[in-house]
Formats: sequence, structure tokens, C-alpha cells
Amino acid sequence: MASIEMRNIVKQYGDGYPAVNDVSLDIADGEFMILVGPSGCGKSTLLRMIVGLEDITSGDMVIGGKRVNDLAPRERNLSMVFQNYALYPHMTVFENIAFPLRLSKTPDDEVRRRVNEASDVLELKEHLERKPANLSGGQRQRVAMGRAIVRQAEAFLFDEPLSNLDAKLRGQMRTEISRLQRRLGITTVYVTHDQTEAMTLGDRVCVLRKGKIQQVASPRELYEQP
Ligand code: ADP
Ligand code: ADP
Repeated sequence: MASIEMRNIVKQYGDGYPAVNDVSLDIADGEFMILVGPSGCGKSTLLRMIVGLEDITSGDMVIGGKRVNDLAPRERNLSMVFQNYALYPHMTVFENIAFPLRLSKTPDDEVRRRVNEASDVLELKEHLERKPANLSGGQRQRVAMGRAIVRQAEAFLFDEPLSNLDAKLRGQMRTEISRLQRRLGITTVYVTHDQTEAMTLGDRVCVLRKGKIQQVASPRELYEQP
């Protein structure tokens, strides 16, 4: 687990108006932070700079007390959970979860131990031999999170993970993600443009507008605002 500190972060694409314009934000260890705002306000760009998929024009990105501006994504030990879950259709649930450990050549018994531990937390134990095609949307999302857990990532990053789902499944998944995040206590940054998600999921909500922070507040504070 790690805190994420952003100090005067700027992202300038070409010579237009900055996509992210002097953003300073502290996300505490174990906190669930929502980034919300209209399309084009800079949410995805900010998330991609945290993960390291986008260069920072100026400012400092500090994760777990360490400046990471010049670190490649794989050196940051964060886990991005995508909209489409990015699961391998030909692999079982077990192998999908184990995938990052196979890449790092972790010994078999250690792989089994960590995958079993993760699938216990995620209630996937009965599904380890199934393929993703035979899982529900919610189960697939949990497999994707299992992959993040076995890596012992320091934070989860979500980029609009529910925007392709129908309303019913979206509601179920909101509950699921919230429950898991609390159980794991892992630092989470979650991008959405959905007001309901913003108001129900996070410890705090950061409202962005035209690349700037307009407000950072708890959902309750936002709700009680005139
Ligand atoms: P959001 O996720 O809030 O919809 P983005 O971070 O995707 O916003 O985009 C913020 C601004 O940066 C927008 O004006 C967008 O057009 C611009 N932008 C995003 N990615 C690029 C890019 N690769 N090249 C140029 N401009 C970009
Ligand atoms: P998506 O592809 O958008 O993730 P899915 O096709 O997985 O959505 O799910 C569509 C609906 O069907 C959801 O309500 C989901 O819970 C249900 N569903 C999908 N697969 C299964 C399954 N194997 N068992 C039970 N319900 C399923």
C-alpha cells in the first residue's frame, strides 16, 4: 500500500490549453479517491500519469514517498483495472490470476499459495478451472482484481470500469468494488463521469474542470452543499 502525492502536475499536449493544469492532490494510504468531471476535463490523463503511461510535463508524482516521474509503468508496482478486464480467453481463471507471477518466474508452490489466497478473498475458489467466457461480468471483474492482488500492487487504478455495463450489473459491481476495496484497504483511484458512482464509492471525490481541481470533498460534504 502506498500514498499518492501529486505536486503541481501539468500535462501539455502540443501547444493547446493544458489538459492537466497545476494539480496538487494527496491521496492517503488506503484511501478510495474518485476523479470526476465532464468529458475532456483531464481525468484519464491524470490517471495515466499516475500509472506512468503518459509523461508529466512538469510537477512531481510521489508514490509511497518516492518520486516516480522517471519510472516506467512496470517499476511503479501499481495495478490498472480496465473496462474490458483484459483477461486471456484461452486461460483458466487460475492462470489468468497467476499471470503476473508467471512473468516474474515465481516458483510454482508460491504461485499456488498466492492465487489460493486471492481467490479466497474474492470468492472465486469454485471457479479456478473455468474460462472467462463462462463467468459473469462481476466474476470477470474479480478475476482482474485477483491479478492485481497477487502482484501485491501498492494501489488500484480504475478508468471508468463500469461504463460498458447495463444499469443492473453496474449497480452490482459498484457494491462489489466498494466491498473489496474496504476489505483489502488498498489505495484506490477511480475515474468516472457517473455521479452515482462518484457519490457512493469513494472516501473523497476530486472534481476536475478544464484540467484544474475545482473541489475535493467527501461525498457527504458534496451532497450537503447548497
Ligand atoms: P477525460 O478523461 O476527463 O475525458 P482526457 O484526460 O482524456 O479527459 O483529456 C483531457 C484533454 O486532453 C482533452 O482536451 C483531450 O482532447 C486532450 N487529450 C487527451 N489525450 C490527448 C492526446 N494524446 N493528444 C492530444 N490531446 C489529448
Ligand atoms: P459484459 O460482457 O458487459 O461484462 P456479461 O455478458 O458478462 O457482461 O453479462 C451480461 C449479464 O449476464 C449480466 O447480468 C451477467 O451477470 C450475466 N451473466 C453473464 N455470464 C453469466 C454466467 N456465466 N452466469 C450467470 N450470469 C451471467
